[in-house]
Amino acid sequence: MTDKSTRRTWFLDIMHPVVFGFQSLDALCSEFMQAWGEDVPPAAVCLPVFSHAGPWFENALHLRPYAVERANVRGILISNAAREANALGLQVVLVVDPGVKWLSENLEIVDVRGRKSAQPCIYKRRTRDLLVTFLRSCIETVTRYVPAERIHVALDTVDLWPMGAEGERLSLTCFCDECRQRMGQAGVSVADFEEVPGPWNLALADSGTGISFINTITADFSRVTPEGLLHAAEVQGFIRAFANATQAVRQTNAQKLLQYMEVRHAMSVEAVGDIFARLSGLAGGRRIIIGECMEYDWTGGTFLARLDSADVCDELWYDYDQPFFTPEEVHMRVYAAARSRYTLDAFWSLIDHVRDSSMMATTGLGKVKSIEALLQTRSRLALAACAPPSPLTRLTLPLDRDRVLGYVAPAMTDAIAGFAITRAVEGAPQTIGKLREASG
Ligand SMILES: [Zn+2]
Repeated sequence: MTDKSTRRTWFLDIMHPVVFGFQSLDALCSEFMQAWGEDVPPAAVCLPVFSHAGPWFENALHLRPYAVERANVRGILISNAAREANALGLQVVLVVDPGVKWLSENLEIVDVRGRKSAQPCIYKRRTRDLLVTFLRSCIETVTRYVPAERIHVALDTVDLWPMGAEGERLSLTCFCDECRQRMGQAGVSVADFEEVPGPWNLALADSGTGISFINTITADFSRVTPEGLLHAAEVQGFIRAFANATQAVRQTNAQKLLQYMEVRHAMSVEAVGDIFARLSGLAGGRRIIIGECMEYDWTGGTFLARLDSADVCDELWYDYDQPFFTPEEVHMRVYAAARSRYTLDAFWSLIDHVRDSSMMATTGLGKVKSIEALLQTRSRLALAACAPPSPLTRLTLPLDRDRVLGYVAPAMTDAIAGFAITRAVEGAPQTIGKLREASG
C-alpha cells in the first residue's frame, strides 16, 4: 500500500450518478486533470453507491435502481461506471451516504423533543443490516468489473446527526429508543438535554441561518476536558446562555456536555465499525471514513483524533482547515472542499428531494416559491465550498506531511451543477423500469 516513499495520488469524487449523464468518466478525468494541473489521471474514482433517490445498482432487495441517461446512452448504472473506471486503470472507492431518505421508513432519526426526520438512524441495528445488505449487493456487482483488491469503501459521516435550533432551544439527533438506551448505559440523563439552557448551549448557538458551534477546543486535538470546553465557550462567546449562572452550574453543564460528546463518539464508532466488520473480505481495499477537520465534529458525532486507529479505519478523509490534524496511525487524504462533503452533500441531496413528492409535501420544500432559485443558491454555496481547482491550490495543500496520501477533488463545476439543476427541474424520469446496458 501507499506509504511515504510512494508518490502521492489524487482521487476524483463523483458525488451523484447524474454527473454521468453529463459526461463520460474519461472526459471528467481529463477535465479535472487539466484543471488541477496534474500530469497523470486520478488513481481512483469515487462512485456513489446510493443517491437520495435510490440505490445505483440492481439489488437483491428488488428496489428499483436509479439509472441515468446521457445523450443516446440509456440506463447508466454503477456497473457501467465501474467498467469504465477499470478500462481507464482506475481504482474504485464506493462512497456510502448512510443518511439517504428512502432508507428511513420506520428507522427515522428523532430529535431530543421526539420529532422525526426522514433520515435513518445509523445506530439502529436494522439500519445497519439494510446498509450492509445493499453494500454487499453493490460490491458483488462492482467486483464483476473491478478486481476486489482495487475496491475501497468510504462512509460519509459528515451528517449522521443533523441539528436544529429555534433560538436557545437546540434540537440534536438522534434520540430514538436505541440511542436513548445506549446513552442510558453510559450514564447520560437525556432529561438534562431537554432543559433550556442546557449543556449544548455551551457549544452551539442558533445563528439565524444555521447553527454556529465551537470548533476549536484545545487547538491541538488533544484530549478534551470540561475545563477546556468551558474555556472555549468563554473565548468564543458561547457562555452567554449561562451569563447569570454560577461557576458550579457552568462546570456541571460542561461535564454533562462532554459526557454526551463521548457517548455520541462511541456510538458513531460502534456503528461505523460494525458496518466495516460485516463487509470484511468482500472489498479488498481500504476502510475510509469521510469527516471534517474539527476537534469534535458535531454532525458527525466524533472526535477526529480518536478516529486515528487501525481498529477504526485505514484512511481518514477531511478538509484542510486550521488547526490541522495529521494522524499518526492511519493515513489521510485531504478533501478539497471547506467542511469536506458537508455543503456539497446538501446540494446533491436537494437535487433528489425536489423530485420527491413526499419530501415536497412533508418538509418546507413544498412552500418554496422557486425550486430552481433554491437549487441555484445551494449550488453556489457548494461551488464556493470547493477549493478552486488549480495547480496553485494543489501547491497550498499540506501534501508533503507524513501520512498524507494525496487529495480528493470533488467533481463539481458550474456546468455540472447547472446540468443537474436542469435535470431536476425538468423532472425528467431518471428511474427507468427496463434497464438497458449503456452502449458506450
Ligand atoms: Zn437513533
